Amino acid sequence: MHSDIRIDFDKVTDSFDRDHLWHPYTSTTNPLPTYKVKSASGCRITLEDGTELVEGMSSWWCAVHGYNHPVLNKAVTEQIGRMSHVMFGGLTHEPAVALGKLLLDILPEELTHIFYADSGSVAVEVAMKMAVQYQYACGKTGKTNFVTIRSGYHGDTWNAMSVCDPVTGMHSIFGSALPVRYFVPQPRSRFGGQWNPEDIAPLKDILDRYGEDIAALILEPVVQGAGGMWFYHPQFLVEAVRFCRERGVLVIFDEIATGFGRTGKLFACEHAGVVPDIMCIGKALTGGYMTMSAVIATDKVAGTISDNYPYAFMHGPTFMGNPLACAVARASVRLLLDSGWETRVSSIREQLERELAPARDFPQVADVRVLGAIGVIEMKNPVDMASIQRRFVEEGVWVRPFGRLVYVMPPFIISSADLTFLTSALLKVVSEQ
Ligand SMILES: *Cc1c(COP(=O)(O)O)cnc(C)c1O
Repeated sequence: MHSDIRIDFDKVTDSFDRDHLWHPYTSTTNPLPTYKVKSASGCRITLEDGTELVEGMSSWWCAVHGYNHPVLNKAVTEQIGRMSHVMFGGLTHEPAVALGKLLLDILPEELTHIFYADSGSVAVEVAMKMAVQYQYACGKTGKTNFVTIRSGYHGDTWNAMSVCDPVTGMHSIFGSALPVRYFVPQPRSRFGGQWNPEDIAPLKDILDRYGEDIAALILEPVVQGAGGMWFYHPQFLVEAVRFCRERGVLVIFDEIATGFGRTGKLFACEHAGVVPDIMCIGKALTGGYMTMSAVIATDKVAGTISDNYPYAFMHGPTFMGNPLACAVARASVRLLLDSGWETRVSSIREQLERELAPARDFPQVADVRVLGAIGVIEMKNPVDMASIQRRFVEEGVWVRPFGRLVYVMPPFIISSADLTFLTSALLKVVSEQ
């Protein structure tokens, strides 16, 4: 590969797409360009004109094993020959059972009851409903609200959106249609830095004043993803969990982005040594093959809901426990466990630390941070998406910044040479901004 790639930009765009297809967070009348992909394999995305891009995003945290993986392909094709789907109401199947067993092997042992859902946002909806129904079952019918930290991201559906950062989540547009939540400041103590005990004070204060209204605290443990790519001190979680438990407030950890090794631990809560009452997982669960998520609850949560009126949890997606998704998820988790992920993630971390460090001296750059297989360059000013994206494509890499954040989270299978290619392109393009 070389970085003076010539791209036929007419060939890698599509006029039907531009005129008729919505893309995430983009105008239909003046859309950001989209690049047409022909295929993807390993750590490479191949565009329509044959241009190869080194993948820096894992398709938004998902494709940890890269693309077109023979083991995952086999899991899907074998399952498709047996059955693609059956309803989960009154029926079950081996892929759901086998995946469940495997998840319980790797999750904290207090988490015992698995609810399969369709996507990350739906998992968050499910977790929030679970918390409210738990409080109802406890006779605490007033505990229906939620507290969270600013700069979070939990998805785009209604309740998930209500606990996203109120500014970047654009709460003002939706006005009174959106439930009003309690927000506390983002913890400012950095991961790996000094813990400042004042970070926890605002949460403690809200719990003291409004604990009787609050069903649960929801947050992304250690790594805040799409809300700001911020890595905070695990001590925040230790204290948050303690204060919540003292006040009968449940704790929901959204590990949809952080789960499955991305932060250097299998689940980010392991950095703090604490276990939530309810955990959401998704994204890398299926290795990026299809959409699936899960919500896992403790005996206490599941049992309390089930032993009290209406004696069942009130949720049931049509595609719950989809066999194809379960089969590929099981294969993906097995593959992860057998792949030496810990060594891979830690060598990606070392290489990112070393190769992104020079950006600290760039006048355009405010901060550089690395945790696990995540590297972030925070700029002083927001980048121009259309032009910077095009520059990355010209340099032969796939990187999609937002706002002031230029970041990578490559597939764990990336070679050291490809990672150097990626970080070199990153430094070059950032230095031009
Ligand atoms: C992506 C994400 C979600 C939403 O998942 P979708 O599958 O896009 O609905 C929720 N929480 C976190 C932390 C995420 O990163």
